[in-house]
Amino acid sequence: MAEPTALNATIPASTPFVGPERLMREHGLVSLVRLGANESAFGPSPHALAAMRAAAEEVWQYGDPDAFALREALMCRHGCAFEEICIGSGIDDLMGLTVRAFLPEGGLALASRGTYPTFAYHVRGYGGHLEEVPYRSDGTPDLDALARAAARLRPRVLYLANPDNPSGAFVPPAEIERFRATLPEQTLLLLDEAYADFVPHGDLPAFAPDDGVVRTRTFSKAYGMAGARIGYAITSRRIVAAFEKVRLQYGVNRIAQAGALASLDDEDHLRAVVAETARGREEYAALARDLGIRALPSHTNFVCIDCGSVGAAEDVLRALPRRGIWIRKPAAPPLDRCVRVTVGTAAQRAAFAQGMRAVFAELPV
Ligand SMILES: *Cc1c(COP(=O)(O)O)cnc(C)c1O
Repeated sequence: MAEPTALNATIPASTPFVGPERLMREHGLVSLVRLGANESAFGPSPHALAAMRAAAEEVWQYGDPDAFALREALMCRHGCAFEEICIGSGIDDLMGLTVRAFLPEGGLALASRGTYPTFAYHVRGYGGHLEEVPYRSDGTPDLDALARAAARLRPRVLYLANPDNPSGAFVPPAEIERFRATLPEQTLLLLDEAYADFVPHGDLPAFAPDDGVVRTRTFSKAYGMAGARIGYAITSRRIVAAFEKVRLQYGVNRIAQAGALASLDDEDHLRAVVAETARGREEYAALARDLGIRALPSHTNFVCIDCGSVGAAEDVLRALPRRGIWIRKPAAPPLDRCVRVTVGTAAQRAAFAQGMRAVFAELPV
C-alpha cells in the first residue's frame, strides 16, 4: 500500500475553515446570511466584473505566470520595484510560500494564540513547530510578549496580522517599526495586511525593501473578490527570488488577474465600500451597547463582539445558523468570549441585529 510520508502521517486531520455551504447542508437551509468569513457583500468594482467577464472568454489560456500587468500596476501604486512583488492565489497561498521557503522541517515559528489560522496550518503541513503567545487581556496582540518570546526562541518565521483577525485591532506603524527592530537577525516577520485597505492610507507604513519582512495584501476583502483567489506579497528581491523557486507558475488564474488589475482603477468603489463598512461597524457597536455587551474597536470589515462569557458566545454561535445567519467565534482566550461578525450590507446587518436581539432575549441571565 502506498503510504503518506512520515510527516504527513503526523499531521492531525483539521479543517481551519468549515464553509457555510456545509452548515447549510447540515441545517437543511437553502440560504444563509454570510457574515462569517469577512467576504465583502458589496462585491467587486463594476470595472472588475466587466474585466472578469471578458477574461472568461479567454479562460482556455493560462494566466500570465509573471502577472506582468498587475505587478506593474502594484509597483506604481506602492512605490516598490517590480521584483519586490509576488502574486499568489490569495494570502493563504503566500503564507504557504513563506513557510515553505523559510521554515525548515522542525524549525520554530511564532504567532499569537488564536490568530488567523492558515499560518499554523502551513507550519504543521511543512513540519515546523509553532509556539504561541496569548493576546493581551483586552484582546489586542501582545507585541511585547511576542518580542520577548522571539528574543528567547529565535523563531525562523513570526506571524503578525495587522490589522489583526479576529480582534480587529490595529497597531500603528511606529510601534510595528519598534517591534521589527527588536527581532533577532534570523527571524522573518510575516506581516499580514489583509485588512490594510480599511485603514486610512496615511496610517500605513510606507513600503521599504527589508530582507526581514514579508507584507501581504489581498483582493479578497475590501476589493470583494474572495472567490477569485488573488493576493500579493511585497518584500525584498531576495525573498521574492526564494518564492519564485517554488511557487506554482500557473497558480493565479487569468480571470482573477484581470479582475484585480481593473479593480485597482476604481478608487470610488473602494472608498464607498470602506465608508459603508465604517457605518456598519458603528451599527454593530450600537447594537452591542443596546444588548448590554461591548464591541471591540475594529479597523477591519468585521467586529468582534464580547458577549460577556464563553457560554454566551457559544450560545450565539449555535443559535444564529438556525435563524439563517452565519458568523464565527474566536477559539482561544481571551477572545473566546466574543463572536466575530462581518460588516455586510444594510439588509444583512439588520438580519444579524434581529437574530442577536432574539438570541439575547432567550439567553439565561
Ligand atoms: C481573510 C484573511 C486572509 C485570507 O486572504 P486570502 O487572500 O483570501 O487568502 C489572510 N489573512 C487574514 C488575517 C485574513 O483575515
